[in-house]
Amino acid sequence: MIQLGIQSIQLRGQASNKSEAIKLVASLLVANGNMQAAYSDSMLQREKIANTYLGNGIAIPHGLPKDRELILQTGIAVAQFPEGVEWNSGEIVYLVVGIAARSDEHIELLANLTDVLDDAATIQRLAKTTNAMDIIDCLTKSRDSNTQANESNANNNVHVDDFEKSIDVELNSDGGLHARPATAFVEIAKQFQSEVRVRHGSKIANGKSLVSLLKLGANKRVTIRIMVSGHDEDSALKALADAVRLGLEDEAESGHALPVASSQVMLNFSTPPVAGIAGSIGIAIGPIRHFRHEKIVVAVTAQSPDVEETRLNHAIASAKIQLQNLHDEVKERSGAAHAAIFLAHIEFLSDPDLLEAAVCNIKLGHSAGWAWRDSYSKRAAEVGSLEDALLKERANDILDIGRRVLRLLADALEEEPTAMTEPAILVAEDLSPSDTAKLDPKMVLGICTAAGGPTSHTAIIARSLDIPAIVGAGPAVLNYQDGVMGILDGHTGNLYLNPSEGDLVIARNAQQDQQDQRMAENLACYEPAMTTDGHRVEVVANIGAAAEAEQAVNAGSEGVGLLRTEFLFLQRSEPPSEEEQYKSYCEMTKALNGLPLIIRTLDIGGDKEVPYLSLPSEENPFLGVRGIRLCLARPDLFKPQLRAIYRAGMTGPVKIMFPMIATVEELLAAKAIAEEIRKEMNANPIEIGIMIEVPSAVLMAPELARHADFFSVGTNDLTQYVLAMDRLHPSLSRQADALHPAVLRMIDLTVKAAKSAGIWVGVCGGIAGDPKGAAILTGLGVTELSMSIPSVAAVKAKVRKMSYTESVALAKRALACSTAAEVRAL
Ligand code: PEP
Ligand code: MG
Repeated sequence: MIQLGIQSIQLRGQASNKSEAIKLVASLLVANGNMQAAYSDSMLQREKIANTYLGNGIAIPHGLPKDRELILQTGIAVAQFPEGVEWNSGEIVYLVVGIAARSDEHIELLANLTDVLDDAATIQRLAKTTNAMDIIDCLTKSRDSNTQANESNANNNVHVDDFEKSIDVELNSDGGLHARPATAFVEIAKQFQSEVRVRHGSKIANGKSLVSLLKLGANKRVTIRIMVSGHDEDSALKALADAVRLGLEDEAESGHALPVASSQVMLNFSTPPVAGIAGSIGIAIGPIRHFRHEKIVVAVTAQSPDVEETRLNHAIASAKIQLQNLHDEVKERSGAAHAAIFLAHIEFLSDPDLLEAAVCNIKLGHSAGWAWRDSYSKRAAEVGSLEDALLKERANDILDIGRRVLRLLADALEEEPTAMTEPAILVAEDLSPSDTAKLDPKMVLGICTAAGGPTSHTAIIARSLDIPAIVGAGPAVLNYQDGVMGILDGHTGNLYLNPSEGDLVIARNAQQDQQDQRMAENLACYEPAMTTDGHRVEVVANIGAAAEAEQAVNAGSEGVGLLRTEFLFLQRSEPPSEEEQYKSYCEMTKALNGLPLIIRTLDIGGDKEVPYLSLPSEENPFLGVRGIRLCLARPDLFKPQLRAIYRAGMTGPVKIMFPMIATVEELLAAKAIAEEIRKEMNANPIEIGIMIEVPSAVLMAPELARHADFFSVGTNDLTQYVLAMDRLHPSLSRQADALHPAVLRMIDLTVKAAKSAGIWVGVCGGIAGDPKGAAILTGLGVTELSMSIPSVAAVKAKVRKMSYTESVALAKRALACSTAAEVRAL
């Protein structure tokens, strides 16, 4: 163990803030020859990305792994602050234990520190002592004596506490079982019901408690015994042992890894925060500005009930048209899922109860406006008083729709909000989907709402517009004046009002880091997505228009993994001709210049309606004649498309992909038609793959693989069919998470079947473009990730930062999870 001499202790230290305290302890380490002065900056930098407050008045500042070469000789210094120094808001520190550690020599000392952590009386004594030896004794007295002292209450040394089911594993993390690996261990342990204990020598720790694990003082390369007891003990033991063998995610501490993505960094501000719920990541800095609704004035009574009823019906019809237009606009800009809420709003407007109550009021002599407002406000109040949080949030939707119609019935609009003239953080009680959709992203730096939860549309739309947002910040936030300066941290969900100069500097630096990170990702977008241990993943794009092929290449995409050909069929009055389709595909092969183009045949039906096809309306369109079923039922559409594809196949590496395959028969039937066309045209064969987006396709994957050249998993649909949750449902769509273990297990089965048959698997659903998703999918053995163009650079960067071994371990852990939230927490 390292020695701690009197020269390493500073009693009665004076510091007015955390930085001064760190500088003081750093100066001791420099004076004692432990480190170069520059490591002190590294210690300050570390505070920006991690909280080194250990608990109970003790902090352990240390530098960044990348600066380890500035450490001359591992050492520790302690500065005592009897008056206390504020570390982070509300955390008062009396003992600052500065660490300059090249390796794990300090672990034993840290273990002693954690021994006194629960002992408030000892800490108070050390905080006030005038004898440096008290501190030295406490930190350096042999672990055995500490153990004995604590044994009675910590249960640390009792043999009978061993569980029968156990495994001995050597610690593979570079720094031993220090804070980060121990945290990783606890996170895994908590995923299981079983009790988990860890033995190191004579000590036993609770595997689900961080402090307990730190108390073990386990250095690197020591062997620990993991013990489990409970109904899921086998899987718990396996998951924990695997994680320990793989180093417990300790790579970043080893000094070899790249810096943590700035978007995931925890920032420590000295200004007290208004705490809300993280809605959309990113940092916004600027003055706040309140969003106010206009006041809609309507007469209470009216002369003619008939006239009022007609006015109401007209207003509702106009509102439906507005909503349809809004839907189309948002869909164009942010995709179908984000636009779906406006379809739900149209549906709300057809609610007979809402209308009936309004008509009743009209018959009693009220104006259409008054009658309507009374009806929707009462309905919103009813929904708002429900227990279910998701339903509660729908009250906001009812008010939003209500106001939309009311505006059309208004006699006057008062206090209309003025357009924003300079960029600001928008603060509001809540924002309706219509309000959010109208926002100008250039003027809105960030959004903070007093109400709402993570499922609110404010959060969802803010994410799609890439605006940092927090929701549910509470009504106090509404009391601040327009113009008050704010920092909004969308990652933690905190808003800092009237921030200090120091905090503004931290925020600006973090914002700059994020921009730099994006820029770096974009600059490196043409580099292959190769893991640190040499495993290559193909990163390609999903496109839905000819012009996007070129944009995809410019963004670093290595081809097109999914061409949604529906774009050729929508918003027109008749189907496109073979020639038109051919020209469009050729435009893409030309732009791709030798890169692959996977053309998915028409996937109409479900949510994708084409009026001129006059398809019969269906009770359950998602379970009806959609995708390949429609292609097979309508050879007049299918055959010209196949002809156009085979012709385009002469101009570049084109592949065919069939959507929504649910049975082997469908695949064989579709292939037979394709082959018939090919022969007629005397064209070259083209590889034919299928989308895996129906549970039956997963279960039949071994059979389907015999007839397909590749699989591409459509996680958007697969998720909705596996979880039985409509992908466009306004309140369920958030739970329909493609990282749900049920969906991941489906992908795992698909990959295994494909591997046995010797074909490759891609993923082209939304989750492939989420860096977390990309990491897990890579670990599951997926070899191609296809995503929207803006995600290409970030996903490639993510793959390049991880090792394949790590991602395989991550995928294993994800498969063992019980919920999507657990997977995301990994
Ligand atoms: C999917 O279902 O995941 C998919 C990529 O297809 P689409 O979103 O076009 O239905
Ligand atoms: Mg699909």
